[in-house]
Amino acid sequence: MAAKLIKGAEVAAQIREELKKEVEDLKAKHNLIPGLVTILVGEDPGSVSYVTAKQKTSHELGFYSIQDSQPPDITEAALLALIEKYNQDPKLHGILVQLPVPKHIDSNKVLYAIDPNKDVDAFHPVNVGRILIGNYAFLPCTPAGCQELIYRAYGDPKGKEVVVVGRSNIVGKPMVAIMIQKRAGANATVTCVHTGTPKDKMIEHCRRADILIVAAGVPKYIQGDWVKEGACVIDVGVNRIGKSEKTGKAILAGDVDFESVSQKASFITPVPGGVGPMTITMLMKNTVMAAKLAAGLVKL
Ligand code: NAP
Repeated sequence: MAAKLIKGAEVAAQIREELKKEVEDLKAKHNLIPGLVTILVGEDPGSVSYVTAKQKTSHELGFYSIQDSQPPDITEAALLALIEKYNQDPKLHGILVQLPVPKHIDSNKVLYAIDPNKDVDAFHPVNVGRILIGNYAFLPCTPAGCQELIYRAYGDPKGKEVVVVGRSNIVGKPMVAIMIQKRAGANATVTCVHTGTPKDKMIEHCRRADILIVAAGVPKYIQGDWVKEGACVIDVGVNRIGKSEKTGKAILAGDVDFESVSQKASFITPVPGGVGPMTITMLMKNTVMAAKLAAGLVKL
């Protein structure tokens, strides 16, 4: 393998150490303790494990932290009222509703009910708009994690050709918005390809990329001969492609054909262990930012 592995778990651990120190400082100098509530509706095993991991990390970092589990039949009105209660709680700076919510609840209504200054997932339209304007406090966690990995492993993407495969609201679109910012860690020339891009054109664009970020949800889609020699490849995809007979655990594959692409790239994220570990860490970073915003230590 020619490419260097970008180990998300190691970068995430490094950022958590930085955050831990910042939390200690905020306590000591400003008597400020970042507060996070995670709201879980129902008992979907995947969602339970996500909120458990978020709670564990927030405790490790010294946050004030609440896990609020609600039954699957909670009404939409009751959930909105609960969010409003947390909007009004000055000890809580971040509110996260674990998605998906049950079908009888409108997930957009839920996300839009969160005070934008406590919206640590950065899904509220006000925060989406703030990002487009370039005056924001939070970035959505997964693309923000990709940006950190690129900056810390590959270097400043300023002036580089970045190609993003996929345009979802949670990964592809915000990834584009992040990489075009006139700031350190961004300032790149960005192209986004998707199912509207003819395949031959898409391959052409991928071949030009100094940095290729893939969030298509198609296992092993990107092939080695679609990648420029020396490119930095960030594989966001997490696809279950089978079950291990030995352990019974899901076998995961990214959106990139790791075997062939790792022969061409200079840096590549593995799946699992690349982008995944960064997502929760960026949520913690956003919560610290939300606390500083509430305390007037940073201004928009
Ligand atoms: P999504 O909502 O399904 O969006 C996929 C995007 O890729 C869409 O914009 C789609 O285009 C585009 N696309 C699909 N097939 C394509 C193809 N053959 N060629 C070009 N573009 C194609 O998925 P998502 O939520 O963005 O997630 C993408 C992947 O990342 C999934 O595997 C997901 O599990 C993973 N993920 C990982 C993390 C993490 O923390 N590691 C977080 C979030 C997501 P259209 O818009 O035209 O349909």
